[in-house]
Amino acid sequence: MLVGKSASSGIAIGRALVILHNDIKIEDGLTETPQNEVKRLMDSIQVAKGELTALHDRVLVEMGADKAAIFEAHLMILEDPEMIDATTDLINNQKFKATYALDQVAKQFISIFHSMDNEYMKERAVDVKDVTDRILRIMLGIKVYDLSALKEDVVLVAKDITPSEMATLKRQHVLGLITEIGGKTSHTAIMARTLEIPAVVGLKDATKLILNNEMLAFSGDAGEVFQSPDEKLLTKFKKQKADDEVLKTELKNYIGQKSTTLDNHTVKLEANIASVIDTEVAMKNDAEGVGLFRTEFIYMDRNTAPSEDEQFEIYKAVLEKMQSRPTVIRTLDVGGDKEISYLKITKEDNPFLGFRAIRYCLQHKDLFKDQLRALLRASVHGNLQIMFPMISGLEEILLAKEILEEAKLELQKKDISYSKTVKIGIMIEIPSAAMMSDILAKHVDFFSIGTNDLIQYTCAVDRMNEKVHHLYDPFHPAVLRLIAQVISAGHQAGIEVAMCGEMASNQKLTEVLLGMGLTHFSMTPSAILKTRKNIKNLDFKKAQLKAEKVLTLSSGKEIVDFLDSTNH
Ligand code: PEP
Ligand code: MG
Repeated sequence: MLVGKSASSGIAIGRALVILHNDIKIEDGLTETPQNEVKRLMDSIQVAKGELTALHDRVLVEMGADKAAIFEAHLMILEDPEMIDATTDLINNQKFKATYALDQVAKQFISIFHSMDNEYMKERAVDVKDVTDRILRIMLGIKVYDLSALKEDVVLVAKDITPSEMATLKRQHVLGLITEIGGKTSHTAIMARTLEIPAVVGLKDATKLILNNEMLAFSGDAGEVFQSPDEKLLTKFKKQKADDEVLKTELKNYIGQKSTTLDNHTVKLEANIASVIDTEVAMKNDAEGVGLFRTEFIYMDRNTAPSEDEQFEIYKAVLEKMQSRPTVIRTLDVGGDKEISYLKITKEDNPFLGFRAIRYCLQHKDLFKDQLRALLRASVHGNLQIMFPMISGLEEILLAKEILEEAKLELQKKDISYSKTVKIGIMIEIPSAAMMSDILAKHVDFFSIGTNDLIQYTCAVDRMNEKVHHLYDPFHPAVLRLIAQVISAGHQAGIEVAMCGEMASNQKLTEVLLGMGLTHFSMTPSAILKTRKNIKNLDFKKAQLKAEKVLTLSSGKEIVDFLDSTNH
């Protein structure tokens, strides 16, 4: 069994197509015959033009203008006179070989696009790389796979899949996707979720360990890939896949319905997202809002912090896509397992107990205010709520709100408008905040319980440490008691209480959380309809009794046993 990172849920069973994009090895060194190198470059551009035109035409017919547009953009980049002139100048004047010259020019263009404030222009950097890589491969005689021409059903295994490949791959022939690089929020992972292709990413050496045509079976949720599975395993995966299909079709019936119990108690089911694209999956699964936008992902995979304008564009896009449904955007939650190198957080012995999230932001006011101003400016485009992470006590709330007021004043001075009704909330994910929730509730408009961290801090279990994973227990009575306490404190103060940690989609706990009075459940979008179905079959009064009973039990095991014996 090979283990990678779960990126997109679902079961994949099929033969591997291992894509060996031989690495492009740039020839350095000089040429004595620059005119030959210029010819080599121009010939390769012509070949690339032929390839891209053919791709464009076929994709246009088979998949529509939307998907074909990427190749129009690529053809424009391919024939960009500035890029061609810069490359031929390097060949003629510096006597560089064609591949080296093009590589140099491509890097320059990519870094220019990268440094632009505008999100759209920034994305063009990926397209320049896509196009110049195509020309380089042609010059070096490296085969380019055409995933839009797939004829058989396959599980794609590759180092990574480029955006143009991803945008045009024949969806109906792709059973699953495994890549060597990337994380849960890498471009490939996000696209896989949008296209609903089961995917595992970050599986080291996958293209070496998996053989072409080898039979594979995996679940995108578990991140575990089985090679040449035996009959027994195969039958298990096939059954799970069939069950998933039946459930998926059935769950579509729940789109457009309210999340209301049998005795007419209604709650809201919302989505956790990490990018603008994720809003599409959220809407497709009928999320009643966004309960958590993890903005730290905007800060990752780059060399400098995103500017205020850049962030404004992203938040505006998210708010618009959510069409005035409530949208909770969390301020930067850096640190812990989320490293952002340019923020220069020095290595700490206990990063989860260290300089993270609001602690970092309160000491880096300029960076924090850039984000707050961007959020406030975007607020006029939808139904924004701002949330502060990792709050441990009242002082942090007061300081964060003070800085928010400063950001508002700065905008007012410039006559920039923002919504005056933006709600301000905090994550309750540290036991000290949970214990103080009655007091904290007087200072904010909503709570959102972050169970991923609340469990780790309550049980003193590092959530990344495999060795103590058995102690990381969402059913632990202490965790459930804290949650009940927070919900009740929130309600007594008349504020909304949500949950956005993984526990919110734990179907075994839905009834208990409902019974405790939780009204907003925020989760990975693919779990929303399943949870709605569950809730529609529950009775709120019975759930309240069940929650009361659970809070009297003495161990996680006792609670699980009790729930197993009473859940239908
Ligand atoms: C949590 O801690 O439950 C949470 C939602 O935040 P994150 O997983 O991003 O720390
Ligand atoms: Mg957290």
